[in-house]
Amino acid sequence: MGETRTVFAGLSHGEIIAWYGLIVVSTAVFLWGAARLVVKYRAGRRDPISQLWRRAGHMFAVVFSHKWISRRDRLTGIGHRLVFYGFLVLFAGTTILGLQTDLTKPIFHWEFWEGGFYLGYKLALDIAGLLLICGLALLAFNRWRRRPARLDYSRPDRPEGGEAGADRRLYRVGDVVFVSTLAFLAVTGFLLEGFYLADADPRFAAWSPVGWVLMKWFRAMGLTGKSAGLAHHVLWWVHGLAALSFVSSIPYTKAVHMLVGPANVAVRDDTAGKRLVPLAADAASEDVGYAAITDLTWRHLLSLDACTKCGKCTDSCPAAKAGYPLSPRDLVLDLRERAEALLGAHAALGLSGAAAGTAAASRAAGGNGAAAANGAAGVSGADPGRRVVLGEPIRPESIWSCTQCMACVEICPVGIEHVPIINQFRRRLVEQGEMDPLLQSTLETIYEAGNSLGEPKRKRGRWTDELTFTVKDARKEEVDLLWFVGDYASFDPRNQRVTRALATILERAGVDFGILYAAEQTAGCDVRRAGEEGLFSSLAEANVAEISKCRFQRILSSDPHSYHTLKNEYPAFGGDWQVLHHSELLLELLSSRALEPARRLGYRVTYHDPCMLGRYNGVYDAPRKVLETIGVELVEMPRNRDNSLCCGAGGGRIWMKEKRAEGSRRTSEQRIDEATSLGPIDYFVVCCPKDVTMYSDAIKTSGHEGALELRELSELVWESLALDA
Ligand code: SF4
Ligand code: SF4
Repeated sequence: MGETRTVFAGLSHGEIIAWYGLIVVSTAVFLWGAARLVVKYRAGRRDPISQLWRRAGHMFAVVFSHKWISRRDRLTGIGHRLVFYGFLVLFAGTTILGLQTDLTKPIFHWEFWEGGFYLGYKLALDIAGLLLICGLALLAFNRWRRRPARLDYSRPDRPEGGEAGADRRLYRVGDVVFVSTLAFLAVTGFLLEGFYLADADPRFAAWSPVGWVLMKWFRAMGLTGKSAGLAHHVLWWVHGLAALSFVSSIPYTKAVHMLVGPANVAVRDDTAGKRLVPLAADAASEDVGYAAITDLTWRHLLSLDACTKCGKCTDSCPAAKAGYPLSPRDLVLDLRERAEALLGAHAALGLSGAAAGTAAASRAAGGNGAAAANGAAGVSGADPGRRVVLGEPIRPESIWSCTQCMACVEICPVGIEHVPIINQFRRRLVEQGEMDPLLQSTLETIYEAGNSLGEPKRKRGRWTDELTFTVKDARKEEVDLLWFVGDYASFDPRNQRVTRALATILERAGVDFGILYAAEQTAGCDVRRAGEEGLFSSLAEANVAEISKCRFQRILSSDPHSYHTLKNEYPAFGGDWQVLHHSELLLELLSSRALEPARRLGYRVTYHDPCMLGRYNGVYDAPRKVLETIGVELVEMPRNRDNSLCCGAGGGRIWMKEKRAEGSRRTSEQRIDEATSLGPIDYFVVCCPKDVTMYSDAIKTSGHEGALELRELSELVWESLALDA
């Protein structure tokens, strides 16, 4: 016998026909499930995408490198890589064999599955099978032996014990079935090979090393010839039926992430959460934000199915850590369950009890799912089809718990966009006036006074009164640098000290700068993230109009929230300028020797990355280099750079009442605990006015007063220059 083997060895004609019949059935079941996914996504709002080739390239780079899966989790990264590549090679091997059996041989009489190709093929598939088994073993070890907290499905946002949505047993069963099915296929594949070799005993058996070992073992047990052939025959059917069942189950089970995960990486918005989508100018009230499942865009509906329940988002969520009723993973899973029950295969099969075809009815009725089909939208509206999700299962208290810190989006291995989804639910709540009274009054204050502290506009420049020099009015004269100061830095007494330190540094460096005085208003970053899109738009328009009247080269911001919005969100309002954070400017001045430190400070400090500067804008190095230049020893906290822990103020949370679980600790206090665990630290360094406020408080309330002090970056630079106040 040459180097090949007979396909369907030992099977009768009837069995071969039955096999092809089963392939047709399983493919049909797969295709129907895939089609239902498409139907489900098409029920969402329109959201055109472009740059398909760039997206495809990016998707391949992410999927094949596994860089998102490996982040902060090497073990899972290695395990998943082994499973992915092992499965891919085995799948390719099956496809190649199918190509010859069903295409090239019957049509072109061309057989390539022989000789050297066959031997290489067998070796490659044996190695792939081994990798697959090793990968599955690693993942199983991680999940069921190491048991990281993030893989515990109990919900931080629902009390234990029977509440709707709190039962996660089916998810646990799904995990076991998924991993064991793949393991079963890999192991039975090897056993099949061993039985075949024990029966046929070809001279090239060693090219299938695992099969060869099994063959030796079977033969030693007396399993040769007919008995081995019989075992092969029986197992062939067991293995084949398991493989077909697995393929047909993909669109309906955890395995769906194999399809939708890469698809979501391809279609996701690279600036998700960073540049929120503006409201359409003519948006009707019921079109604002999300309330019903059909309000989600098709991309957001698709992303729900990509979730692998890895828990990385909830594990990095500051709200969950501080005892707020929010779990980004469970928010995604709740939405997914509701979408599947109302629009997916469950709905089509009548398994969910929901009216099938509601989406089509909704679309036919005019686009917006909630409004068009329900006749009412929102938390309390009548909803016979149960398409409204805002209220239950998506509870307003969960939506308001989010600080919009982006930690979840940053770490999600399949690129799910929690932040814009949450923001859309906030928009609807704001539209309906359902919000924390404190938030409502703060938004009204901003509307009336142009700042969140309710200070008169004319007082915005008062912090300059104590300076020994005059700060230019950029409305009246040309400046090199237009400094957009921000609310806290302008009005809050502790922050004013920082603002004056920075102004003094700029003066010393000979920087030509000015401010807008009374013409500056809140930039609107947190107003937007709180869901008040209308107020944000009017603030953005007013600020862009005032800034546009001035003559300047660049904009400076000492507030990462303002910095982010001016740099990334004002261009949509016509304000396209070069914007610098003060850490970047300080580094520039120190590097060009416009600033010369008089002495090295020699302090031992730790530094907190603000969400808006780090995760939102990738500015991690500038503050660290400034610290290095002024002779400060930086000791990193375990959670640093893109893993930084939010202070808890973002997304408008600083304007809302705390509603945390009893006994929980604020994230700002947890952060100070983290800093003090580093040993003796002189200063906790920040470069965001909200961090100045949050961490000054947290040092007192966490019980660490006296153990360390807070310093803003500018204050340390000022000290290094040995300037007089
Ligand atoms: S943005 Fe931050 S607070 Fe909000 S869900 Fe994500 S991790 Fe949690
Ligand atoms: S949303 Fe993303 S990070 Fe969160 S559990 Fe799902 S896959 Fe994991």
